[in-house]
Amino acid sequence: MSDFRLYNTLTRQVESFAPADGRVVRMYTCGPTVYNPAHLGNFRTFLFEDLMRRALALRGWSVHQVMNLTDVDDKIIKRAQEQGRTITEVTEPVIEIFHRDREFLRIQQAEAYPKATAFIPEMLALVGTLVERGVAYQADDGSVYFAIARFPSYGKLSRLDTREIRSGARVLQDEYTKENAQDFALWKAAKPEDEATGAAWDSPWGRGRPGWHLECSAMAMQLLGETLDLHCGGIDLIFPHHEDEIAQSEAATGKTFARVWSHGAFLLTDGSKMAKRVGNVFTVEGLREAGISAAAVRHFVYNTHYRKELNLSDQALEASTEAVRRVGEFARRLRDPATLERGGTAGLAHAADEALGLVRDALFDDLNAPEALAALFDFIRKGNAELDRKGGDRASVDRAIEVFERIDGVLDIVPLAVAADAELVRWIEERLTSRREARIRRDFVESDRIRDELAARGVVLEDGGGSTRWKLG
Ligand SMILES: [Zn+2]
Repeated sequence: MSDFRLYNTLTRQVESFAPADGRVVRMYTCGPTVYNPAHLGNFRTFLFEDLMRRALALRGWSVHQVMNLTDVDDKIIKRAQEQGRTITEVTEPVIEIFHRDREFLRIQQAEAYPKATAFIPEMLALVGTLVERGVAYQADDGSVYFAIARFPSYGKLSRLDTREIRSGARVLQDEYTKENAQDFALWKAAKPEDEATGAAWDSPWGRGRPGWHLECSAMAMQLLGETLDLHCGGIDLIFPHHEDEIAQSEAATGKTFARVWSHGAFLLTDGSKMAKRVGNVFTVEGLREAGISAAAVRHFVYNTHYRKELNLSDQALEASTEAVRRVGEFARRLRDPATLERGGTAGLAHAADEALGLVRDALFDDLNAPEALAALFDFIRKGNAELDRKGGDRASVDRAIEVFERIDGVLDIVPLAVAADAELVRWIEERLTSRREARIRRDFVESDRIRDELAARGVVLEDGGGSTRWKLG
């Protein structure tokens, strides 16, 4: 069995990786805060995590991935208050959009998408343990804080100088009740707007709501156990979010929280970090409207190593669109009845075997997707040349198809139109979009009508776990 190597942010080294039980990788991935559709910068991280889970599966392990949905936070409460709604009314449609965007980008469904608001008892239990152990305290403002001075290894992930964290930090005026400016809130005392929007719960420390960092620790340990194999996220989460997750979890259990920490780099536009606050609004919806396929987006993202910054540009997306067109053509040619009839050459099978070896080596070496793509395109070039020659060997074509499918099972970059008649696929996708929109506005009559309309054309829908699949029945 091949070695699998990953860069671990905790040690700043590429290390050999395997799940603790040798079988199932227990993987936690920080999910979106569901007040606005996630931007492409978030989706670069989610695509990196999709590559991770598929590469781990190619290696032969099962993956149990948990991605949280942060459905209570300042921005959500503010929006709910502005609109006179509850936080649930604000977040539910955004969660639908998240799954729609995720499905569009072919990001595999995680094993669980826990919502923060569904784990309040687990979070309170964790706060209770931390207070009992003397590493958390209730301040005069009613909130409960984690005392970083009482957790000596604070800062080990980000490697920030803790003296600097403690003294040099900006002290916010409303934080005078804390023992230390950088102590972070585990439980925030309820304000009138929290009560008004359904964002307050009873607790031994009075009415309040959980802090963001607490959510991840409580849900990760509840669903995956006290020590995770792998914790992933965007590089911007290292400090303070992941540092705080470590502090809370390890102070409570005395055990290592995550054995390996893996972080994806930023998506940039014109050299600056992509985020809504700087005005670069790029959404999956925007890409879809611009007619850019999921296959092209995936190729664009995977063509740069996940630890390198990636620049979004029209030229890069065009190049990726052209690249996946070639992938689609090769896929079609391999499966063409005429190809199957003619058979292939020994060289075709050889090129396939060589490609699979190279792709595995690349992906198992810290997810080197650019090298895996290079090996795939080399296979396509050689494969096309071999298919031009007189074949005769059906088994070599079968081998080429098998290898191609295994590689594409990780990268997933065949344009959809290759899989079925393009016109029909477009029509189905349009109907599915309308149906999702109907469901978002809770128009179930229209949603059912579209389902029947699709059924009349032989399209069978399967709803489950927040996603919809279709097949021709
Ligand atoms: Zn998190």
